[in-house]
Amino acid sequence: MEKTRLGRTGLMVSRIAMGCIPIQRRTMADAAALIRRAFEAGVDFFDTAHVYGDSEAKLGSAFAGVPRGRIILATKAMADSRENCLEQLEESLRRLRTDYIDLYQWHNPANLDNFQENGVYQAMQEAKKAGKIRFIGVTNHHLGRARQAIESGGFDTLPFPLSVLSSREEIDMTFRCRDLDVGVIAMKAMCGGMLPDGRLAFSFLNQYPHIVPIWGLEKTEELEQFLSLAEKREPFTSAMQEEIEKVRQELGDEFCRGCGYCLPCQAGIDLPIMMRISYFVKRNVEGSQFNEARLKQVARIGDCVNCRDCVQRCPYHLEAPRILRRQRDEFNRLRQEFLAGI
Ligand code: SF4
Ligand code: SF4
Repeated sequence: MEKTRLGRTGLMVSRIAMGCIPIQRRTMADAAALIRRAFEAGVDFFDTAHVYGDSEAKLGSAFAGVPRGRIILATKAMADSRENCLEQLEESLRRLRTDYIDLYQWHNPANLDNFQENGVYQAMQEAKKAGKIRFIGVTNHHLGRARQAIESGGFDTLPFPLSVLSSREEIDMTFRCRDLDVGVIAMKAMCGGMLPDGRLAFSFLNQYPHIVPIWGLEKTEELEQFLSLAEKREPFTSAMQEEIEKVRQELGDEFCRGCGYCLPCQAGIDLPIMMRISYFVKRNVEGSQFNEARLKQVARIGDCVNCRDCVQRCPYHLEAPRILRRQRDEFNRLRQEFLAGI
């Protein structure tokens, strides 16, 4: 398995990293079997988050008995205070059955102004001093905040949505990361499940050796496909570029990339998530998107005052107010189906 140096962390990680959102859909035993198969095939970098249901616990279970130094664990805190972050960290350590996390990431903060004074960042620094985490990263969907994060020097890695649908500016930002020695991790590399298979996505990202893609894996067949792609290393061709253009056309002008340029919304709507909420429901664990917090976020769509600021800011000029209403209706339909046990 090819390895990549993850920026200034100096960690040498497998170029196939396993994203652990989808294992929420598997039983503990099936998830453990998938994780162990990946590990045996040379995958040593596993990414999860405190908010990904039982994903951390499944990783902890799968790696029971494996020498800790042989795996690189990344997880995330979606916290809003020092205390909350430290609580989440303790829980993550317990679930992962470890006494340290290699890469601890601040999960998509909405604001990075003066982040050094933010309790969450301070908690991460404390945890680092205490040896509970080794490196600090920050995830973001917003190009402006991603740039702010990497230029600040306060973060060792940046997980960012990168895929065949990324803009030139987004790819250029990853080269700036390389220059600053910030590790770049590609998330949403399958465009939120919009690509039919991994071939295009893999060859596209494989052109950039400084980017480590995370592949969200649920099934053994998906893992085997990426292992086979890694072995073949099919170059990215003009024919592939044409295929990508077809995908773009199929997705039309209504596909939200989750970049966050449209923010802030005066009604407090989390557009990058809400514009795609029905896709998330379809891809995630049954019911995991139907928690109280999500229901409140979806209900907030009703507060849209149609100011159209988001439409103006969106580089793709998505008709967000209309798309949001459609997403809300689809979310509610899926929830009704879930509640009815369909
Ligand atoms: S149009 Fe609606 S969703 Fe868009 S910024 Fe205004 S209030 Fe928010
Ligand atoms: S609506 Fe546009 S700007 Fe907002 S997240 Fe989606 S693609 Fe990005």
